Amino acid sequence: MTVTFKPSSPIWCSGCGHFGVEAALKQSLKHHAIEPHETMLLAGIGCSGFIQNYFPSYGYHALHGRVVPTATGVAAANPALTVIAAGGDGDGYAIGCGHLVHAFRRNPSLLYIVMNNGTYGLTKGQPSPTAAGRPDQEHDLDAVQLGLTVSGTTFLARGYVGQMNQLIDLMNSALTHVREKRGFAFLEVISPCITFNDNFPSWREKLVNVDMDDSYDPEDRAAAIGSYARLVAGGKVPSGLIYEGDASTFEEATGVTAENSPAFQDISVAAHIDGYRKHMGMYAM
Ligand code: SF4
Ligand code: MG
Repeated sequence: MTVTFKPSSPIWCSGCGHFGVEAALKQSLKHHAIEPHETMLLAGIGCSGFIQNYFPSYGYHALHGRVVPTATGVAAANPALTVIAAGGDGDGYAIGCGHLVHAFRRNPSLLYIVMNNGTYGLTKGQPSPTAAGRPDQEHDLDAVQLGLTVSGTTFLARGYVGQMNQLIDLMNSALTHVREKRGFAFLEVISPCITFNDNFPSWREKLVNVDMDDSYDPEDRAAAIGSYARLVAGGKVPSGLIYEGDASTFEEATGVTAENSPAFQDISVAAHIDGYRKHMGMYAM
């Protein structure tokens, strides 16, 4: 096995929700028997981005808001890897929001975990795009609801670190979706920041677990849009598997497979010297 990286110990505040996300992801990688050298974990900027330091897999700390396009590039270059992007709501829903929308419509086979705590924890508690109900904040963004309205989405879910069994199940399903090359698995996790926005107690009241509702069909997008909107109008936040379906993927659009991926091509100068000379010759006077 390739020797990769020795993880360090988490430096999150005691009680931070992100410990739950780290534990669930470790459990899920174990469940799927995915080895560190078969995984690449990319992180965004913020407290949540530290998660990349705590896994022995290949890793990369992306520019602020750019974790999704960077992860898409990794998935395109080497489809043999299980690619996981992780970051926070500030990183993913503010500066990175445009990339999220385009990932929804491109549908690359990778898992994107957003740790939503309604604040910018690393910079000491400014309101983020999901900071609902604070007097200094505009209307909040619901990225799962946004994803429901984009026709290319294939996996949308919301978990909560206060409900670990469900979170692990959702993560297992998301990784199955990715490994079966069905496209973009989007998993938002409610992961409270106990230091700057400690709203742990409020989530038990607010979340409505659609996994427990036999009448809810996560494969019916139109019905899910209606059910979701009604819950939000009633002041609730849906959790569980919100939608799973099929749509053409980024891999199908680009034609890259594990067999022909750029990561496995011979890029030595000797193998390509004639081609390089031909192209350089086009610029010669
Ligand atoms: Fe977690 Fe908040 Fe502490 Fe950051 S500041 S580590 S988000 S509790
Ligand atoms: Mg945040």
